[in-house]
Amino acid sequence: MLLKGKELADKIVNKLQNEDTPPLNLAVFHPVGDGAAESYLKMKEKWLKKINASLRVYPVSSSTPLIKFYEQLDDVNNDPSVHGIMVELPLPIEVNYWNLHTKINPAKDVDGITFHNQGEFFATITEKIVPCTSVASIRLLEHYDIPLVGKHALVIGRSNIVGLPLFKLFLNRNATPTIAHRHTHDLKTLVSNSDVIAIAAGKKGLIKSSDVKDGATVIDIGINVGEDGNIHGDFDISSETEKERINYSPVPGGVGVVTNAVMLENLQKCYKIQSGQYQNRF
Ligand code: NAD
Repeated sequence: MLLKGKELADKIVNKLQNEDTPPLNLAVFHPVGDGAAESYLKMKEKWLKKINASLRVYPVSSSTPLIKFYEQLDDVNNDPSVHGIMVELPLPIEVNYWNLHTKINPAKDVDGITFHNQGEFFATITEKIVPCTSVASIRLLEHYDIPLVGKHALVIGRSNIVGLPLFKLFLNRNATPTIAHRHTHDLKTLVSNSDVIAIAAGKKGLIKSSDVKDGATVIDIGINVGEDGNIHGDFDISSETEKERINYSPVPGGVGVVTNAVMLENLQKCYKIQSGQYQNRF
């Protein structure tokens, strides 16, 4: 089965459109001249329009003084007309990223990267503001009714915006997750023993479908620009027979489109937190 993202993304957006929320504003600190960041920015603008939200761009160039960057961040942290903040990385200035995680107002942290939000997520069973792509991966599995309880879930990649939170999301759903990274030995055996495999390494063709067992599900999170100029994932599946025996999400058209919808959802959650309407689950 092909796990396409569009239907789920539309469902998430429709739900958000029916919420009684004022027009929201998202502030984005944007690295000037970064081609990938330029396309992410256009994409954000396009998706924000779907819920009548606006983008405020704060360009950061190599000549932007660090102090100015932090002053602007402070301004948007305290500006009640800004409901969400995202910092597109890497920035062209020398920012200490761990320090950055303490500087964003947690109530506006659409990416879920602040220590406050990470701490709450990892120390409890709440899933308040969790990094968008990790949430999108789990939602895609749930949308297609892929069983998770008691299943062996392999997460390849341990970044704190994708792999690590995904590990915890699997744990919250009573799967048995394993996390692999670039120092992991014998990845092939881990892959062949897993029921669900989420690949977020950023290595085109890292995992071959022939190593995946029958009936297993692969969530391909990787984004790689190939020599052909096209976008490719981390999963290599081509033969029609393999497509029959494995469930997998395509790149593009899988996790990516759901990630954009979850970004809108996180923005709206931020608004609810700021306006005292968010109910914690614990
Ligand atoms: P990252 O570079 O921070 O992390 C990559 C991880 O992969 C690291 O933990 C590393 O140890 C692991 N890794 C690298 N090579 C490996 C190997 N050979 N075997 C096992 N593990 C290996 O990247 P990230 O920010 O987590 O993103 C990962 C991928 O997901 C990238 O391709 C990125 O573009 C993509 N991504 C997609 C979306 C989306 O919306 N679809 C969003 C964010 C990131």
